[in-house]
Parts: sequence; C-alpha cells; structure tokens
Amino acid sequence: MDPLSWLEQRKADGLLRKLHPLQRQVGQPLAAVHSAAPLIDFSSNDYLALSHHPRVIESGVRYLKQYGAGAGAARLMSGDCDYHHELERAIAGYKGKASALLFGNGYMANSGMIPALVGRHDVIFSDRLNHASIVDGCKLSGATVVRFRHNDTEHLQELLQARRGTGRALIVVESLYSMDGDRAPLVAIVRLKKMFDCVLLVDEAHATGLFGQTGSGLVEEEGVTDDVELVMGTFGKGLGSYGAYVAADQVWIDYLLNRARSFIYSTALPPGVIGASLGALQVIREEPWLADRLKEKTRTFITCLSEQGFQLHSDSQIVPLMIGASDVAMGMAGALQDRGFHVTAVRPPTVPEHTARLRFSVTLHHTDDDLRRLAEAVGAVHSR
Ligand SMILES: *Cc1c(COP(=O)(O)O)cnc(C)c1O
Repeated sequence: MDPLSWLEQRKADGLLRKLHPLQRQVGQPLAAVHSAAPLIDFSSNDYLALSHHPRVIESGVRYLKQYGAGAGAARLMSGDCDYHHELERAIAGYKGKASALLFGNGYMANSGMIPALVGRHDVIFSDRLNHASIVDGCKLSGATVVRFRHNDTEHLQELLQARRGTGRALIVVESLYSMDGDRAPLVAIVRLKKMFDCVLLVDEAHATGLFGQTGSGLVEEEGVTDDVELVMGTFGKGLGSYGAYVAADQVWIDYLLNRARSFIYSTALPPGVIGASLGALQVIREEPWLADRLKEKTRTFITCLSEQGFQLHSDSQIVPLMIGASDVAMGMAGALQDRGFHVTAVRPPTVPEHTARLRFSVTLHHTDDDLRRLAEAVGAVHSR
C-alpha cells in the first residue's frame, strides 16, 4: 500500500499516531510546546522521579566530563570501558545474579537476546500481552511461538504438555505488565518451567527499582531469583536513565555476548548514561523509602478515584482505566489535556482490539493534590 492512503485510512480508523513535543525541564512544570499552560504528566515511566534527581544528574555529568560523550565503538571492538563493567557489576549485585550484560535499550535486549537463546528447532511459550520487543525477538528467532492467555498458568501447562517437544524451550514473561499494571504469577511459572525443563526469561522493565527488599524487582519479591535463568530490565523507566541489562549466571552472559547480535553489532552505551544509571542505583540503595512512598501515592490515587465512582484495582503504580473504543479513549485524553493533565490513551495494536484504555502512571513527580485533581477531572470528563 502507498504511504499516503495508508495514513489516511489510519486516520479514518482513529489510529493515527503523532508526535507531541513537550518541554520537560528539571525543576519546571511540564508544558506542551506552543502552549504556556502547565501540564501534569501521568504517562511517564519515570516512577521514582530519578531522571531529575540531583545525584543522578550529578553522577551523569561527572562521567560525561571524565570519559567523554561516547564510547566510540561496540564493546567487542574498542568500546569496552571500565565504566561498563562497573555498571554490570552493580546491576548483577542488585539483581542477586553472578553477572550481567548491558544492551543499548530494552528493545534491543529482547529482540537480540531471544534469537540467541532459541532457534528453528525450538519453541517459545510467550504471554499474550508481552511487549513488542519480546514479540519481535520471538519472530526473529525462527522458533515456534506458542502464546498463552495472559497470566493463565493452566493454559500454559496445557500448551507445555501439548507442544513442549524435544528441542530447547523458553518461557518469556514480564514480571509487571506495562499496560495493565498486573503481576505475573512467577512462583507458578517457575514450577512449570522446572516440570517441563524450560529456560525462563523475565522482563522486569516496569518493576526494577520498585519491588522487593532491595527494590530490585518482583523476581526478588517473589523469592525466585535462583530459578529465573535470565532477568532483564531497563534503566530507562524506574531508574530514570537509559539502556538495558540482562542479569544471569556467567555462562549465560558469556554465551549472549558471543551470540546476541544487538549486543555485538551496536555501539556501547555512552559514559553520561552509564554514570546516571550508577547514580540511580546508589540513590535506590540509600533511599529505599522512595519505593514505599510511590506505593502510598498509588493508594491515595485509587482512593481518590473511588470517591469519583471508579472502583479500580492495581497491583502497582500503573493504573489502567478501561474504556473500550479507541475514539472515546482519545476524546477523554484530549479533554484531560485541556484540564492540564497529560494522560496517554493506549490503543490497539499496542493492546488487544476493543480494550483501549487510559493508562495512569503514578510517579514521585506527583503531589497528593495532583492525584486528587486528576481523579476529579476523570470523573468530570467521563460522565459527559
Ligand atoms: C519499555 C519496555 C521495553 C523496552 O525498553 P526500552 O529500554 O524502552 O527500549 C521492554 N520490555 C518491556 C516490558 C517494556 O515495557
């Protein structure tokens, strides 16, 4: 199809995506470019507000000044620097694993790692709501992909019984789902993975920094660290920086650094980003109450919404409000924007057909007053 008619069709279906630049400056309210009106951002993944934390910024600046703007090459060429190893040691320790490997970002980690782990004669069992980077990694691998109903371990067990085969088998799940804010039943999944001799990859993109005793994630909170071979996550969400990692035993790391093409053929992460990520890990270690404060804020928000007649539940800082039709969700997001709230309407194909929703993500950028005012605005906009 030619691009113009494709775009017109997309627009007619209410599914056209567009960019909307924002002015996001430290210490200043968010604003849309071309508009002076301040906006409160309820769609960022900067859950702990670490992207603006003075010590995270300071650490990034220090590394930038000391080591320069870029690493200059891929790690396996001459781009492998001491600061990469410093961050890999830090994240491995944080995750309770022997070793870790950095990737450019989470998309590259999943899309490069999965094809390295399984191939044509193998099978992947993938949760139906897994992130696009996992879906693409599965496709690239050439393995048979078996999708199980979201968080349904009975369905997973049936499929394992029917389709496990004799090759390698990989189970891939997220620990906290990005669009629904619900958690994977990790203990039950670990039991199945052992029963059927599979390798387990858990994506902690939205859980890193927020759950468990040390804040490392839900793998830690559920006590399954030793049973999950590969724990991946990003530095770009709760940790406020950029980049991604996988933490695992040394043999997995050695294997991936030899086989994951998105690691091998891409320039190493730059020093400023590494410095910021190291700063974020240090802040989380020294200020463990940040994650508790976020949980309190989420409870406050759920209470405010219930006062508006919305009985919502969430296991996490991600609070979805199901709407259904894409155009209705878009209309509500627009009306909230007019009232000073930046909220994303999540639509197909990011989520299944007819499940368009508003996705509120609570962060430490929000005051309790912000949360109350948003809940009131949702009430006003919804009943119109
Ligand atoms: C955001 C996300 C990714 C991609 O991470 P980036 O660092 O943004 O590329 C991967 N997996 C999940 C579950 C995500 O939510």
